[in-house]
Amino acid sequence: MIQTKLIAPLLVLLCFSTLLNAQNKPFQFQQKAVRPGTKMSFSIPVTDGHNSTFIPVTVFNGKAPGKALGIVAGIHGFEYPPIVAAQQLAQSLDPAQMNGTLILVHMANVPAFLQRSVALNQMDGKNLNRSFPGKASGTITERMAYTIANQIIARCDYVIDAHSGEANNDLKPYAGYYNHTATPELSKKSRGFATALGFNYVIQFDNLPGVTEPSKYCSREAVVRGIPAADIECGRYGIAEPEMVNKVVTAYHNALNYLKITNGTLGKVTPLYVRNRTFINSNYDGFFYSRLKAGEFVKKGATLGYITNFFGNKIMDVQSPVDGIIMYMISTPPVNKTDELFSIGHLN
Ligand SMILES: [Zn+2]
Repeated sequence: MIQTKLIAPLLVLLCFSTLLNAQNKPFQFQQKAVRPGTKMSFSIPVTDGHNSTFIPVTVFNGKAPGKALGIVAGIHGFEYPPIVAAQQLAQSLDPAQMNGTLILVHMANVPAFLQRSVALNQMDGKNLNRSFPGKASGTITERMAYTIANQIIARCDYVIDAHSGEANNDLKPYAGYYNHTATPELSKKSRGFATALGFNYVIQFDNLPGVTEPSKYCSREAVVRGIPAADIECGRYGIAEPEMVNKVVTAYHNALNYLKITNGTLGKVTPLYVRNRTFINSNYDGFFYSRLKAGEFVKKGATLGYITNFFGNKIMDVQSPVDGIIMYMISTPPVNKTDELFSIGHLN
């Protein structure tokens, strides 16, 4: 009898605590509280006392609790598909229907975007995706990296850094993640996350025990902090082709669904994992020509293109040292000595 009497109040208590638990907390960001079920946009200022810029960010704080995802678009301001995709994603999300939090960096590198600058921020000539973990008292790009690392990445359970082929790059879409053998659980989480994004190819970066140098890359900064992360590379020549933008939008939604921040279903994709890549570099400054395209399969020993000098005379045949698939390649004539002409993914 005593037991039966206890069951009803216990059930009430259980339901009450479940309801309490189901309520998300305000998300404190930039000295503001983003209430559960709402979103708030921020322009985070960055200045080195000489140059100034800002980082446009929207925080979507779900009504229910859950994981925190960071999506960083526009680390390279000329890579438009992930940038345009982030703008579309922002318009399509309703925080009242979300569980957990999305911190969306609409555009990490506003100067490079407005300068239409390939890879570099012209304010200091630095590449933001070689500048992590950044410096609090560094140049403007180093301070941008520092801000993203400490104010955004540090707040996330998972991170996406989204890129595309730039002005001179044809590229086969893929996701990537850091495979570090000293942290197998972290690498496994990153692999699962990268796989869930829905690309046909997933590239394993590093394949090392761990990171012994500065993180340099945005997603590697997350991994160094113990946060699982994935890269997106989707689109070519920087241009916002609708098919490529849509692919990135789908990948963003897949990430949100995978982490159960949104309630959609996850499409099933069984990707090919590319463990190793071979990079073919130019030995000369000059003109580069190739009839190939990203995504084509190449055989070891096959001629992939050639380089001429400034008088049009051929000075180098470019041959593939391996069998594989072209993940990305230079597709415009200018070439510098040491430039990566091709990235060939191994398929074994
Ligand atoms: Zn990039």
